[in-house]
Amino acid sequence: MTYSYLSHLHCPKCHTKYDASQIQQLCVCGSPLLVDYDLERLAQEVKREDVAARRPDLWRYHELLPVQSEANVVSLGEGMTPLIPVPTLGADMGIENLYMKDEGIIPTGSFKARGAAVGVSRAKELGVEEFAMPTNGNAGAAWALYAARAGIRSTIVMPVDAPKITRNECAVSGANLVLVDGLISDAGKIVARAVQEFGLFDGSTLKEPYRIEGKKTMGIEIAEQFGWDVPDVILYPTGGGVGLIGIHKALKELQTIGWIPADCKLPRLVAVQSEGCAPIVKAWEEKRKDSEFFENSETIAFGINVPKALGDFLVLEALYETEGCAIAISDEELLREQATTARLEGAFVCPEGAAVFAAARTLRASGWIAEGERVVVLNTGAGIKYPDTVSAEVPVLQPEDSLTR
Ligand SMILES: [Zn+2]
Repeated sequence: MTYSYLSHLHCPKCHTKYDASQIQQLCVCGSPLLVDYDLERLAQEVKREDVAARRPDLWRYHELLPVQSEANVVSLGEGMTPLIPVPTLGADMGIENLYMKDEGIIPTGSFKARGAAVGVSRAKELGVEEFAMPTNGNAGAAWALYAARAGIRSTIVMPVDAPKITRNECAVSGANLVLVDGLISDAGKIVARAVQEFGLFDGSTLKEPYRIEGKKTMGIEIAEQFGWDVPDVILYPTGGGVGLIGIHKALKELQTIGWIPADCKLPRLVAVQSEGCAPIVKAWEEKRKDSEFFENSETIAFGINVPKALGDFLVLEALYETEGCAIAISDEELLREQATTARLEGAFVCPEGAAVFAAARTLRASGWIAEGERVVVLNTGAGIKYPDTVSAEVPVLQPEDSLTR
């Protein structure tokens, strides 16, 4: 039995092919590489019914993942997060069929666990002993923890302003953690120099080709959870954009292997950014194929503070191909939506997830989301990882005091 139908890597820009059995980073032309599978053979040999009885984690789709041997799988039980109807919030914003794909309950409390599980497993399989990566917090935390489980050494560089808990997650995992007085782009430059100087594996977003494959399982799960069907719209908080690229890749692969109808209309993908950091939105509005560096970026939704993403052209391609859009949300709007989501649905979502709910509200109000459409919002992490986004004024009683109503 074939565990993975991985065949090779290819460059989406210059179409050069690469051997997947070797460690690869970027294409010689500077573009990220994408992973290819022998989908024709997979379609003949594996049926979607085959996965139904498997464990509820992302490895249930192992034929569509790059890890060649099950022995190399580094797992903490990630994946198959719930797709939860949120009807009260939906009614509040006029979206009858609103769902939340909740990544807040995954190991490490964010969707980054998916990319880390597959990326670290594949790095282990290829013999990587040490890597370095820049992060806005959650990815570094996930990679550091999965690396610890894999017995791989990690160096993580994150901005001083990154969520404190993610700093602690790296530290407790035994990672070599360094803070930078700057943005993720500055952390990236420090990592690039270290990679050059010490010959480390570069774990930066999209400089290693396999994390997309982990993120793509969100798209496969959404399809399976809809009974191998797709919703009309999927909204996604977009920093590096890997999740959106991955979901798009997944849905196209599912069409190719016939697990969803080859002629079905793919969901319109929506890249949600913050007004304080909206390079993809600007590029989309100008109908460009790639983005420009967004100067002086700042937002409370720290995970999407990425002023220039390496895979920007792939994000934009996904938006254009699916007739999706890009939209920016203010910090004020997303904080209001975070409170509304908790109050109406009991879901304490991360600020990035809150931005996406706010975007759904805006797009419904403008009519871009039509009545009756099935809309999936990705909440990429747990609100409890960002305790400072909520300020509570709470009365303090003395033991002899009584409650008033
Ligand atoms: Zn290339």
